[in-house]
Amino acid sequence: LGGSISHALQQMSNATIIDEKVLSDCLNEISRALLQADVQYKMVHDMQSNIKRIVNFDDLAAGHNKLGIIQQVDFIQQAIFNELCKMLDPGKPSFTPKKGKTSVIMFVGLQGSGKTTTCTQYAYYHQRKGWKPALVCVDTFRAFCQLKQNATKAKIPFYGRYTESDPVKIVAEGVERFKKENCDLIIVDTSGRHKQEAALFEEMRQVSEATKPDLVIFVMDGSIGQAAFDQAQAFKQSVAVGAVIVTKMDGHAKGGGALSAVAATKSPVIFIGTGEHMDEFEVFDVKPFVSHLLGMGDWFGFTPRHMYEQFQNILKMGCIDQVRSMLPGFSAKLRPNDHEKESQAKIKRYITMMDSMTDAELDSTSTKLINEARIRQIAWASGQHVRDVMDMFEEYERLANIWSKMKGLKIPKKGEMSAL
Ligand code: GDP
Ligand code: MG
Repeated sequence: LGGSISHALQQMSNATIIDEKVLSDCLNEISRALLQADVQYKMVHDMQSNIKRIVNFDDLAAGHNKLGIIQQVDFIQQAIFNELCKMLDPGKPSFTPKKGKTSVIMFVGLQGSGKTTTCTQYAYYHQRKGWKPALVCVDTFRAFCQLKQNATKAKIPFYGRYTESDPVKIVAEGVERFKKENCDLIIVDTSGRHKQEAALFEEMRQVSEATKPDLVIFVMDGSIGQAAFDQAQAFKQSVAVGAVIVTKMDGHAKGGGALSAVAATKSPVIFIGTGEHMDEFEVFDVKPFVSHLLGMGDWFGFTPRHMYEQFQNILKMGCIDQVRSMLPGFSAKLRPNDHEKESQAKIKRYITMMDSMTDAELDSTSTKLINEARIRQIAWASGQHVRDVMDMFEEYERLANIWSKMKGLKIPKKGEMSAL
């Protein structure tokens, strides 16, 4: 898959001129790859027409030298990336539980989608941050044992009973008890055991009525394929789905069905499951997800700290001009072009700014949390201009993006950068 998207873009950059036909061929090839990644047909089609609308062929004709073409290919790639990011954004955030306040969270999804696993992971994730979660189970014998085992392992309070009689009554009792115990996160695992869909949805409706959840999370197997839209829609029609979790992202699946789930439920993806273990669970981050979907390689792992170490090595090696050929994606802004001293000074300034960042900021691949206020603080603390701090973050995004495109290249671990 990745191959065909990179191949399509490569083909386009080899063209001597980019006209409608070249773009069309390229988009067709990319569309095929996206369909294989389980993105819904209609969405792929919409993406195609949006890109065609964005691209201005007069501009393309004006820049028909080699550099112009490469810039245009970059632009188109960025446009595709942005379109996909947009499709994952329902435009409003989901309900966010607050620590210290009681929230009831109900999990729904087909049998085997990973609900029971995800319930424990979600509980464990919050428990580690000092929350007081509890698990309630409305399910068959198998899930009862499974959840109880998980809950015991993680020392999370658990309520459930092995009985076929009245699941709604049991869950209502469980929620009631944990409310009394002041748990701040009461997690309800539902069954999905019914053979008849109608019966399954009816039970879900009753459970929802009995527990009045603050949030219903739709759990979706990442490899579900083109069926994702209808499935998500069916759940949304029965209960008020407000968020999505995509599981089994550790497998071969690219998870394109997530786009369908967002569209069908008008809710955001909030976490992804990357394995069966308690801690194989991550906060959803749209950019790495789309990057993975496009087969652009992952920028999982490239953090500001990597850039920091890279810069320190450059300074250690002395002559920037000598090392620049070895550095993938080294920005033109930092390239000396006989301004060796200036480049060195710039790199030193960037290092000073990064010295004013927290460890958490340096070790996160996402700069989402670094808002304007934070940028001003960093500028102030390091005695630099806000504009320069923003430049530094732009440089980081650019480098992270380039590293992500270099498939097969192992991202160096901390301290391994000197192997450049
Ligand atoms: P439920 O029927 O919706 O409750 O699904 P379960 O939580 O019982 O999960 C079904 C199967 O998928 C189990 O064998 C899980 O161990 C497995 N599973 C769940 N989440 C993941 C995941 O993120 N990655 C992998 N590889 N397996 C998972
Ligand atoms: Mg289950």
